[in-house]
Amino acid sequence: MSIISDILKRIKPSPTIAVTQKARELKAAGKDVIGLGAGEPDFDTPDNIKDAAIKAIKEGDTKYTAVDGTPELKKAISEKFKRENNLSYSTDQITVGAGGKHVIYNLMMATLNKGDEVIIPAPYWVSYPDIVMLAGANPIVVECSEEQGFKLTAKDLASVITNNTKWVILNSPSNPTGACYTEQEIRNLAQVLRRNPHVSVLSDDIYEHIIYDNFKFFTIAQIPELKNKVVTMNGVSKSYAMTGWRIGYAAGEKEIIKAISKVQSQSTSNPSSISQAAAVEALNGTQDFISIRSKSFQERRDFVVSSLNDIDGINCLKPDGAFYVFPSCKGLIGKKDKSGKKLETDTDFVQSLLENNNVAVVQGSAFGLDGYFRVSYATSMEKLKVAMERIKSFCESLS
Ligand code: PLP
Repeated sequence: MSIISDILKRIKPSPTIAVTQKARELKAAGKDVIGLGAGEPDFDTPDNIKDAAIKAIKEGDTKYTAVDGTPELKKAISEKFKRENNLSYSTDQITVGAGGKHVIYNLMMATLNKGDEVIIPAPYWVSYPDIVMLAGANPIVVECSEEQGFKLTAKDLASVITNNTKWVILNSPSNPTGACYTEQEIRNLAQVLRRNPHVSVLSDDIYEHIIYDNFKFFTIAQIPELKNKVVTMNGVSKSYAMTGWRIGYAAGEKEIIKAISKVQSQSTSNPSSISQAAAVEALNGTQDFISIRSKSFQERRDFVVSSLNDIDGINCLKPDGAFYVFPSCKGLIGKKDKSGKKLETDTDFVQSLLENNNVAVVQGSAFGLDGYFRVSYATSMEKLKVAMERIKSFCESLS
């Protein structure tokens, strides 16, 4: 009999973390690898946020806090929702966890039963299906093609809802594609959801602030008739370059928020008191950093998209947000690399690129859509320039 639980056997380790790890190992072995696999901003946390953390330590803010977040942080989050999204949540409709991933995990643990279904549009963030499976429920993956901008349509949503559907997960801007849903697209999905009141929505807004070309961010809780069916998850990781601080949060109906906190109370308890103090400053302090940083990301996106589209066999949509692009490598599948190895899948493509030309990206199949790869451009322009040259020369070397 295995010591490992049956549920855990269904779970795979995060493939994006695996690629980052592989790139790290190759680097440690002396190879000049450029990693475009990581899902975190290369910018440092702004100084005003770091100073708030240092102040918290010095002032003895080092004890347990309320399990689901300090009153100061919940107030800052409530004000953020009002200020940026015109959404009113009282502090007992808000919970804070150790990162967005933690909050999603707790939400699924708190609400899913065996046999429940969670609709996940693909390409998806790698953790969604595994978290759903850890909670004992069934992920229902819906492929969203490049032709539909990698976005879920109302028609596709309607076709997969069953009596067992409990949640639909929406993620805009998206990891891995950068795709953003317009207000109209969200309203179209909302119409289907209004006909199915047994279905709730998890809106993962973690990339809210990383948007380009004046794209207008819209989140489904802004539709009043649906607000009580939506849990909106967000956090400071991506917006404020605070991935290591581990603060994420969610807002929704009191009953669900209380249940999330209950899971947390018997697992991790409160997120770090010091990180919470830093997150208060992130939300209440100057927001100048966001637009400066977005401008820099936009330049990189433009460069990466045009460089990739210059390569024969690669096709890359220009997304409105996040720091990822999701180009197709279908035109190169079936070709052979320098060593004579035939590239049968996107995984072969990605592996051969890493081995032969020292660039780490992640295969599309890891995100639920074959024939693509994800490039994270959250790295310096200098590195991106070299990486794009290497990808081009790799693709040209295939025969
Ligand atoms: N949701 C999406 C779509 C993400 O890409 C990530 C991180 O990569 C998260 C949630 C989790 O963020 P956090 O680092 O706050 O746990």
